[in-house]
Amino acid sequence: MKRLKINHNSQFLQLLFIALALSLTLGSCKKDDPKVDCSTFHWGYGGDEGPNFWSECTPDCSGNIQSPINITGATADATLTDLETHYEAVPIEVINNGHTIEFEYEAGSKLTLFGADYELLQFHFHAGSEHTINGTQFPLEIHLVHKKSATELAVIGIMCEVGAENDFLKSFTDNLPAATNDHFSSATTVNLGDLLPNSTGYYTYGGSLTTPPCSEAVTWLVMSEPIQISADQLAKFTAILHDNFRPVQSLNGRTIKEHS
Ligand SMILES: [Zn+2]
Repeated sequence: MKRLKINHNSQFLQLLFIALALSLTLGSCKKDDPKVDCSTFHWGYGGDEGPNFWSECTPDCSGNIQSPINITGATADATLTDLETHYEAVPIEVINNGHTIEFEYEAGSKLTLFGADYELLQFHFHAGSEHTINGTQFPLEIHLVHKKSATELAVIGIMCEVGAENDFLKSFTDNLPAATNDHFSSATTVNLGDLLPNSTGYYTYGGSLTTPPCSEAVTWLVMSEPIQISADQLAKFTAILHDNFRPVQSLNGRTIKEHS
């Protein structure tokens, strides 16, 4: 009887010890976690620079209407019209800014949205895609960034799938700037309108920049039809862009509308 009691007691003590050790471990984990030093923090896509850490220095990144999202359950909206782009043919300056490959567009091109003009600034690439459509991630997504004001941006998202060689990208894919701060100037002029898919269908919702500062100032217009690029062209992008996509964010009750 006495022996049994000792056993019970030692089991109890053992459990108590484990519980204590666990709580100390958890407690010390929290306490000793290296806090992100925002004076030196450089955001990226992996490890302790990755998307999970962005909101430590840019609180907007944990907001309620963040992008990208998984596009599903969209509501058809008959009041939406085809996108009204007024793009000029221009020479392009391509830069590697350390996060993406960005094609700078000369001033003078615009998107007219709900009667207002948004100036086309640049377009850039994410490999793989940031938005997903019905859970499908594409190998590449292009973002065409337009600005009306600091708090009013409109970004067209174009998904890419592997298929035929893309004529628009042909003059660039052999000269993509591989290292941060590398750049390339195209000798010929191109018109970004030639990169848009044939189908005018798109999804639209209110969201944010997909990189810090994650500003919730973006009307997203994600084209429903992907465009095609060759496997060789895709490989040239992915050799430089290493998974530079933010994972999909919660919809938080937002409505996705569809123009077909
Ligand atoms: Zn982007």
